[in-house]
Amino acid sequence: MAWIWMLPAAGAVLLWAISLGRILSSPAPSSLPPNPHLLPPLRDDRRSRNVLLVVAHPDDESMFFAPTIFFLKSKGHNIHILCMSQGNADGLGHTRKDELYYACDTFKIPRKQVKVLDHPKLQDGFHEKWDHGLLAGLTMEQVQLWDIDTILTFDSYGVSGHPNHQDVHHGICKYLQENGQGNIEAWELVSLLHEILGPPSLDFLVRLIRSRFIVERNRQCIAFLNFSMLSLVKGIDLASLNILRKYSGPVDIWLSSLISSSTSKRPMYTLINSSPSRSYQAMAAHKSQWVWYRRLFVMFSSYTYINILQKV
Ligand SMILES: [Zn+2]
Repeated sequence: MAWIWMLPAAGAVLLWAISLGRILSSPAPSSLPPNPHLLPPLRDDRRSRNVLLVVAHPDDESMFFAPTIFFLKSKGHNIHILCMSQGNADGLGHTRKDELYYACDTFKIPRKQVKVLDHPKLQDGFHEKWDHGLLAGLTMEQVQLWDIDTILTFDSYGVSGHPNHQDVHHGICKYLQENGQGNIEAWELVSLLHEILGPPSLDFLVRLIRSRFIVERNRQCIAFLNFSMLSLVKGIDLASLNILRKYSGPVDIWLSSLISSSTSKRPMYTLINSSPSRSYQAMAAHKSQWVWYRRLFVMFSSYTYINILQKV
């Protein structure tokens, strides 16, 4: 009966293969639900958006935002990157700045549209507290310089929970509050670890139950919903469930699709990266960071394959 213990492993491999097949079968970067209203032209005289991606460190763009960058590029939008630090925690700031430019070459983002700051009050580190007003002011400078109409950044958890990422989020929120949110459309990358932790999880489940997927009796989605509820009933730590999601690679496409299709107070989309190998290439441009465990991270991370964006 030893073979019976191999069934879960075989099932996981099969699920991984099916999920990867689902992602690779997309002819181009796409969104779920498919929606032409995701970043439509703002004015008749300008068909594409001027998007500003605001990150904390060189490599954030490749490690976390690659599906979004590929999606926006495929739609003809003009991407700019503002990186708030050189990532100098290990004294490699200049090297890492250059590596960001190399990564942007793989994304086909012109180097003149990339700004890497080295401000004494914005240094890389878990124990560095970044001033939100300063971040808002620096963002405003680049918004005006590049005529930005759309901002993209971290959510309040900051994807990995890094305090610098979280400060960038709060800096953008401060900028939006102080400079008229009406003129700028802002989107945040939803953190898989943060999304259904804590009290919002009940609200999340209620939204799932009311979602049109359930009405349509979609078997796969109900299976995932049952899994989530069983996890709650059996007392499995939700944090563990979410860590599983974060490192489930392409498998998370099913639950992310369900989340972005459920009724939500704010618009939410799942963006699918139809060429995950290009994420790998972009991250490989960060040679000083390209150690074995980051290679594994890029392979197993859901952020390589999908991004969930939510309107700020
Ligand atoms: Zn970072």
